[in-house]
Amino acid sequence: VQTGRPHEELLAQDDKYLWHSMKPYNPNATIVATKAEGSWVTDANGKRYLDGMAGLWCVNVGYGRTELAEAAYEQLKEMAYFPLTQSHIPAIKLAEKLNEMLGDEYVVFFSNSGSEANETAFKIVRQYHQQKGDVNRYKIVSRYRGYHGNSMGALAATGQAQRKYKYEPLTPGFIHVSPPDSYRDDVNVSDPRELSSVKEIDRTMTWELSETIAAMIMEPIITGGGILVPPEGYMKAAKEVCEKHGALLIVDEVICGFGRTGKAFGFMNYDVKPDIITMAKGITSAYLPLSATAVRKEIYEAFKGTEEYDYFRHVNTFGGNPAACALALKNLEIMEKENLFDRSRDLGKQVVNELSDLLQDHPFVGDVRGKGLLVGIELVKDKKTKEPLEVTLVNQVIANCKQEGLLIGKNGATVAGYNNVLTLSPPLNIKQEDINFIIKTVSNSIKKLK
Ligand code: PMP
Repeated sequence: VQTGRPHEELLAQDDKYLWHSMKPYNPNATIVATKAEGSWVTDANGKRYLDGMAGLWCVNVGYGRTELAEAAYEQLKEMAYFPLTQSHIPAIKLAEKLNEMLGDEYVVFFSNSGSEANETAFKIVRQYHQQKGDVNRYKIVSRYRGYHGNSMGALAATGQAQRKYKYEPLTPGFIHVSPPDSYRDDVNVSDPRELSSVKEIDRTMTWELSETIAAMIMEPIITGGGILVPPEGYMKAAKEVCEKHGALLIVDEVICGFGRTGKAFGFMNYDVKPDIITMAKGITSAYLPLSATAVRKEIYEAFKGTEEYDYFRHVNTFGGNPAACALALKNLEIMEKENLFDRSRDLGKQVVNELSDLLQDHPFVGDVRGKGLLVGIELVKDKKTKEPLEVTLVNQVIANCKQEGLLIGKNGATVAGYNNVLTLSPPLNIKQEDINFIIKTVSNSIKKLK
């Protein structure tokens, strides 16, 4: 879209006609982007920004990939739409490809967003237990600080009260437990089953009555809640606890999937086999809306009853749109060809190592952590008490970076309302010189804080 209008005028029009997630609280934060190429976005005034937040929307292969546009265009010409109450080739091929990547037999249900992929998973686990005659299992355990989406069920699963309390009551039957926080908790145990966060899952499922628990959902690395990389063995031990209580494990790969953490899927860092995997964003590198709920074959088999209503009564009109599936296939091909999962792993290590070195003596830098190109810098008032840094100062770092042409985000919810973890997540095909630019700009922007 050619605008031909200056940035200020577009912002005024945005202010008048558009309602998006930061408004009207913070309309000044808006960038009206007009063009993007590689890792860089240009606004209507021609100012360029490196998109260090691309990982939150998962533009994993970078902007401006004409191959992706062409794959969608060819499919739109061939057959723009057909519903998945029937079937079509792009959806079949994409489900096959996801199976190959997952390394096991999963059956795939397509939707359009991460929230929908999770809602689908919640309905599947509840009906699964019904199909098996286990009619009391409806509760879903999730973790504080986790994020699972904006709809009533996905928000109920979300563990960030500040996002929820104005919309309550949400969907009933969701229970929260603490996530492991390797920076703040004592996670030095010889056996991961001894982690307080693992024991809490076990205790909660026991006290809630095992026979009422349908599933647990978790992100491999909590992103929106502050880049919480779990201690070694946590996820595997959590899965064992779920099994002990007869609960299924849903892994939310909406951000961690498709190379963000240096592997095809985040759970692959942790030696577990999830029962259900939800994915979105990176499946198309955010070029078109598409999400998926991949379900272990045995779970799917339980829906093959003999009664009329044994099947899964869930329809999604646009889920698995042929053009989105065709684009996703091309996107996954590019990721493989360009070896982007390994690239994410290696560049992520560089970012964490160099920023740790540059900032280790800074009084506000409590922790630098991450996996792959999903990196967090936790800012604190005091390294001993670990009290979160005021949000105005965190915002100052973000503003300093923006001034220099770098977009970064903040996440957190350590204490409700505090977003004290700077988040760096550029495209996975980012150039080496751009990685160096991020490291230098973030470090200088933090050092400017008084
Ligand atoms: N799960 C996770 C882990 C997410 O980060 C998000 C979005 N940030 C969602 C689910 C929801 O995805 P969507 O916004 O596409 O509904």
